[in-house]
Amino acid sequence: MKIICIGRNYAEHAKELKNEIPTEPVFFMKPDTALLKEEDFYLPDFTQDLHHEIELVLKISKAGKHIEEQFAHKYYNEIGLGIDFTARDLQTKAKEKGLPWEKAKAFDNSAPIGNFVSKETLKLNDIHFELKINDQSKQIGNSKDLIFSFEKIISYVSKFITLKVGDLIYTGTPEGVGQVKEGDKLEGLLNGKSFLKLNVK
Ligand code: MG
Repeated sequence: MKIICIGRNYAEHAKELKNEIPTEPVFFMKPDTALLKEEDFYLPDFTQDLHHEIELVLKISKAGKHIEEQFAHKYYNEIGLGIDFTARDLQTKAKEKGLPWEKAKAFDNSAPIGNFVSKETLKLNDIHFELKINDQSKQIGNSKDLIFSFEKIISYVSKFITLKVGDLIYTGTPEGVGQVKEGDKLEGLLNGKSFLKLNVK
């Protein structure tokens, strides 16, 4: 399986990192070794500024290429919550030099994933999600604020890359990204229910 991540998909987050609001989806990838299903996350030693990015995640349920936007809803069946961990210091350096982001984004365990729920149980254009750290709210988002819809993302990415069953698409983070530190306890909530827990070690 592969992990596809959408960048700059919420206007307020694009602004907080001083990025332009994109006119087409921005995406990058993480390898399967980035996936973390356990609750313990160990801070890597190559960054001094590891940032949390809470994101809604689509689980691909049908293989496809060149998927038309109007049919894209048939290609995912579940939605969950994940974190797109980002070594912001490494990413900033890479961006300055016009280099790829892999060191900052694709390292082992950089994609914690929580529970999923059938998309049929959700109002897809009104999914509320939140990241709390040590019981304090840090990021709040809602799918109604997506710049590019789930369907648009699936259609766009599948022009370049064949989607396969089990692939995950991290759909972008809302504003409020920030640093995580040793000892932090992270909790991701989807429509008020706990979907993801992480202890930073
Ligand atoms: Mg992200």
